[in-house]
Amino acid sequence: MKYTESISNVIEQDKAEKISRLIDQSSRILITTHLSPDGDALGSSLAFGHYLSRKGKNVRIIVPNSFPYFLKWMPGSDNILIYEYNKGAGQSIIENTDLIFSLDYNIPKRVGEMAGFIEKSQAKKVLIDHHLEPGKIYDAVVSHPEIASTSEIIFRLLMQWGEYEKMTFEEAECIYCGMMTDTGGFTYNSNDPEIYEIISLLLRKKIDKDRIYSKVYNNYTEDRFRLLGFTLSQRMKIYPELHSALIWLSKEDQSQFKFSKGDTEGFVNYPLSIRNILFSTFIREDDALVKMSFRSQGSFPCNQFASEFFHGGGHRNASGGEFYGSFEDAVKLFEESLFSYAEQLKNRDI
Ligand code: 5GP
Ligand code: MN
Repeated sequence: MKYTESISNVIEQDKAEKISRLIDQSSRILITTHLSPDGDALGSSLAFGHYLSRKGKNVRIIVPNSFPYFLKWMPGSDNILIYEYNKGAGQSIIENTDLIFSLDYNIPKRVGEMAGFIEKSQAKKVLIDHHLEPGKIYDAVVSHPEIASTSEIIFRLLMQWGEYEKMTFEEAECIYCGMMTDTGGFTYNSNDPEIYEIISLLLRKKIDKDRIYSKVYNNYTEDRFRLLGFTLSQRMKIYPELHSALIWLSKEDQSQFKFSKGDTEGFVNYPLSIRNILFSTFIREDDALVKMSFRSQGSFPCNQFASEFFHGGGHRNASGGEFYGSFEDAVKLFEESLFSYAEQLKNRDI
């Protein structure tokens, strides 16, 4: 039996073929991903970029803003254009490309300022993503909210194109990193047996999964590690009746620990380790806004909470949003919103 036979074809064949044709017809291809790119955004973009380069395409990857230091080891990450530092070059690439891939986000708004240029561009547009409610501007849409990561969708697409044998070590590393980070190291959203069939296929490409784990998760600076300790001991409030927790960090708190991009990534998950806590929120004061992150266990819909109160969205168990106003008002609105969900949150089976 071929190793690859255990993976089912989830992407409709006609879509896979259409995207393949669009690629064949294009020579300059642009890959874009969402604001504050995470492991899956970068993993899917870099893996797909490596694949397209291998096919002889002229490929660029643009991300709206910078990404955390613990993802900078990813092969190809040095060649990513960061739009906020290089807007002119970014706009010119968007205007002069034949095909644009939008990976790991559902609507143009999720790339911030770049959105308008992408919408205006004459290029063909393809969405490959796993968020709900895909946008309507695309020539082809591969949208699978039931799949844990966009990187997994990229793997499946390459497999459906018969590309597994030729898949490189770099492509496999990037795909693995995205699958790992969007499931918290395979601790949530990760009960689909095929995930492990795919991991086994990636290991056959000689990736070192233990090393990838360490590079992402065991790579704290001392300041970052102390910031985590400070947050959990000094900036956490528990709402026992509501099975909820809040952690927060003001600008001042962050500067005390020499905050740098990505330092608080993953913090929001920690309160879920507390017995009976099923909903966790992290409020972080940023430069021009207050950033909200939500995580839940079970059926509590973080994405609904984020979109109802904080202009956001995401997945049922992991979502985010924004608040425009003072940090104190963000905390106040959060508590009011939390109490408005009291009935649902009191119920232990949420
Ligand atoms: P994080 O808490 O790690 O920033 O975001 C978790 C997930 O929530 C992301 O993968 C993304 O799907 C979603 N998300 C985060 N921030 C926003 C936002 O401002 N708007 C929307 N629509 N989704 C967000
Ligand atoms: Mn993702």
